[in-house]
Amino acid sequence: MKQDKGPERWANDLSILLTTAFGAARFPVDVASLAQKYSQQVFPGDPITRVRPRGFDGFEGALIPKPDGSGEWGIGYSDSLRLKGRVNFTIAHEFGHYLLHRKKYPNGFQCRPEDMVRWDSEYNRVESEANRFAAGLLMPLDDFRAQIPANRAADFDMLGACAERYEVSLTAATLRWLSYTQKRAILVVSRDGYILWARSSEPAFKSGAFIKVAGLPPRKIPLMSPVARNAGSVGLIEPTRLDEGTWLREPVTEHSMISERYDLSLSLLTLGARAPLADTEEEREQDAVDYFSRFSRSR
Ligand SMILES: [Zn+2]
Repeated sequence: MKQDKGPERWANDLSILLTTAFGAARFPVDVASLAQKYSQQVFPGDPITRVRPRGFDGFEGALIPKPDGSGEWGIGYSDSLRLKGRVNFTIAHEFGHYLLHRKKYPNGFQCRPEDMVRWDSEYNRVESEANRFAAGLLMPLDDFRAQIPANRAADFDMLGACAERYEVSLTAATLRWLSYTQKRAILVVSRDGYILWARSSEPAFKSGAFIKVAGLPPRKIPLMSPVARNAGSVGLIEPTRLDEGTWLREPVTEHSMISERYDLSLSLLTLGARAPLADTEEEREQDAVDYFSRFSRSR
């Protein structure tokens, strides 16, 4: 049964189709066209017939049943999304809801900015599935690993090249790399000097290197972070070595990117091969939530 396929399987099957059709030059994925053509061929009774920008208030994307009862679906993305990469990921996320969830959720979906960046299933199963589908469709793991092998360190130059290749945001490309890398690394997303959320690679997390935000008072980025020291400027900042006690109980190299459009800052913390031994057994649940919704609503 096609409806029972999981997000990775769906993404993989469509990737095989795209590779067959377009060969090596198949990136970036034209997801708006794919969603419409594929659904019209395979699900002619309830296809996606429209993908377009909408004046959403607070939502980034939506999967909407046509109100005339025809069974047709539309995908909308917020007209405030000015980066092509964010648009692509949003459309792919909604296409994921269509393939995976439309039978169970006949009224469709309205998805907020924070729904697009949480890939862990503890957050919300359907949102995480839509993101895993989108990541798998736009950035297939075999191709991503060929760009940055699992045993290689990455920086924002390399991840930026991947973001360009797949036409996704730098955040999405970095999350994809973190999902398979053997390196210890953490992505921290902040706004106005406060941490919104953070995500560790598995080797980092298992070694106790993570940044807890959920359920805690708003946490500022360290004063010595290049993001704090360059507040007001825009763009990539040279990697900076920071002492233990700045971000973690070990020294880190911070790669920083201050984005002008969303006044978001990305800090990619790369760590040594091994955690320091003094690591105690504290809470180890991965959790990245977050004050994201509060900040994103106050825009
Ligand atoms: Zn969603």
